[in-house]
Amino acid sequence: MKSRRASLEVKNRGSGSQHLGIGKNSPVQKSGIRKSKTSRWRALALILLNLFMIAHIIQWRIMGKTVSPIEPSETMYTLQQGAINAGFIFFSLAILATLIFGRFVCGWGCHILALQDFCGWMLKKIGLTPKPFRSRLLVYVPLIGALYMFVWPTVYRFFTKPETERLIPKFTNHLVTTSFWETFPSVAVAIPFLFICGFMTVYFLGQKGFCTYACPYGGFFGLADKFSPGKIRVTDACNQCGHCTATCTSNVVVHAEVKQYGMVVDPGCMKCMDCVSVCPNDALYFGFGKPTLLVPKSNAIKRNYSVTWSEEIVGAVVFLGSFLAVRGVYALVPFLMALGCATITTFLTLKTWRLFRANELSFYRFNLKSSGRIRKVGWAFVAFSVAWVGLNVHSGWIRYHEYLGDRAFQKIQIPDELALAQKDPAPWLSPIERENILEGKKHFQTASTFGLFANREALSKLAWFEYLSGDTERSVALLGQAAARQKGQGKALSLYYRGTILNRLGRYDQAQLSLDEALAERSDLILARQEKGESLWLLGRREEAISVWSDAVQRNPHLVLANNQLAGAERTLARFQEASVHENKADQSTPDNPHFHWVIGLRLQNLGMTELAEKHFQRAIQLDPQFQLRRGNSPQ
Ligand code: SF4
Ligand code: SF4
Ligand code: SF4
Repeated sequence: MKSRRASLEVKNRGSGSQHLGIGKNSPVQKSGIRKSKTSRWRALALILLNLFMIAHIIQWRIMGKTVSPIEPSETMYTLQQGAINAGFIFFSLAILATLIFGRFVCGWGCHILALQDFCGWMLKKIGLTPKPFRSRLLVYVPLIGALYMFVWPTVYRFFTKPETERLIPKFTNHLVTTSFWETFPSVAVAIPFLFICGFMTVYFLGQKGFCTYACPYGGFFGLADKFSPGKIRVTDACNQCGHCTATCTSNVVVHAEVKQYGMVVDPGCMKCMDCVSVCPNDALYFGFGKPTLLVPKSNAIKRNYSVTWSEEIVGAVVFLGSFLAVRGVYALVPFLMALGCATITTFLTLKTWRLFRANELSFYRFNLKSSGRIRKVGWAFVAFSVAWVGLNVHSGWIRYHEYLGDRAFQKIQIPDELALAQKDPAPWLSPIERENILEGKKHFQTASTFGLFANREALSKLAWFEYLSGDTERSVALLGQAAARQKGQGKALSLYYRGTILNRLGRYDQAQLSLDEALAERSDLILARQEKGESLWLLGRREEAISVWSDAVQRNPHLVLANNQLAGAERTLARFQEASVHENKADQSTPDNPHFHWVIGLRLQNLGMTELAEKHFQRAIQLDPQFQLRRGNSPQ
């Protein structure tokens, strides 16, 4: 009798009841499904994984150097830039292992899954069993995400890089790193990221909500699983009791699949082995045989879905809109988090839409609407949904302005070195550039005024617009604000630009401080070293300036500007022999480009090295007589 009741329950589930409870009072539970023994081992494996991750971070903090992050997302840098890192090796091995054994890496080796399991466990403790949301279209999101993350970089390179690097980039070794956290979001972003991708997706979309509808790695793992001969298989001992299906948190209809195909074919199966452990007849086992792709699908198992086809289409549009709205907004929301947000927005929109159309609707144990009347809890749901969707719309509006500001920024043609070689770059700007500067400023200012957070990248770009349009003070202030929110290379560059502009303003003390900070962030930023020498020279600390330029030249003997600066300094100090060595070195590496000579001339003129500056001005005029007209515009 017990197994008959369980069988009915499973029948319901297999035929698609979306909100089937497997909670304390469900018939399946009453029928006494035995506890999974493997779940404890899996919990232990996931705890150890998290401890290992923490140990990795601690080791880096103590020693300042460590193995690069063992994260699949790091593979993007290998594909884009040829940087071989630990993440790429891990992801390649994980895909290879999945091709043979199936999706074990997901079930036993993923920290996001650990978080989802933890959240599911917590919800069950308070009597809420996460219900799976089933969609026909959204299940393709992980694969599309994976293609975007891992295939698109290669396609892009094919059309943009020289022939030798089209398919395979030049590989470099990035197995060990000092900047472990550089490619990760800040802690302030990581916390909402984990909350949204772990807790909220589980609450709204089911225990594997993020895996099923958002995770791009899962897109490839699911695909690889279809090729794998390693599967959960069944013996003749199965009596279709359904305990396996009731236990599976990946929403696999195990009893039906093993009956139909003799094995679990659903690529969502993460090989957690719970079904094997709970089967009362020990009918399930992990074994090798035919992969899913070779199984005839003539009598595919029918699935019921949470939404109708029209809701699917609306959902797909909402998903895309929400994803585009939040991805990269404020330069804060990373790709995976945007996918997680979009799934939640889609669910909330569809559920709210249904709330207004249906006569009865519930969510978990909450009765949102009954007999055509929306109850208090229903209005609370609507309020939350409106707030969430409203936040998405606002983010989309901000993102729109950030995008247009960014587009205007891309259209600015004046090279940085030329613009920064003088206090006022206005004479070098074309009318189209002036228009783009105004346009870009307008959009970035709107985003900054109405945005909820400051966008550090937009701040740097706005600072550039301000500098080009002559507001150097505001530019310096904005670069300071940007640097305070940045890290690594971005921070170093903002500080370098700030120091350079301060040099042009004659505030050499402040310039030197800013450039020192830039060099503390990235000691290999040669541009900052050349510029720091300039601050020191103009502060009258000439020997220190020579030492800084010499250091730059030691790091790169072909530096044209630093060699010229050294030649000019040594001439000034009547060290003519040394001056001619550096001048010759500079001349050997100087491209015969009038703009280049003009920039060198301006930089030397700033330093009072007029004789050498004149040589470059003359060469520029010789190469392009139009430059004669520029003489009147060059700073005195
Ligand atoms: S699908 Fe993604 S989030 Fe889910 S377990 Fe696999 S790798 Fe982790
Ligand atoms: S495989 Fe085991 S648990 Fe699943 S339906 Fe068959 S007998 Fe029941
Ligand atoms: S089918 Fe079995 S092994 Fe696969 S995820 Fe479900 S319970 Fe785990």
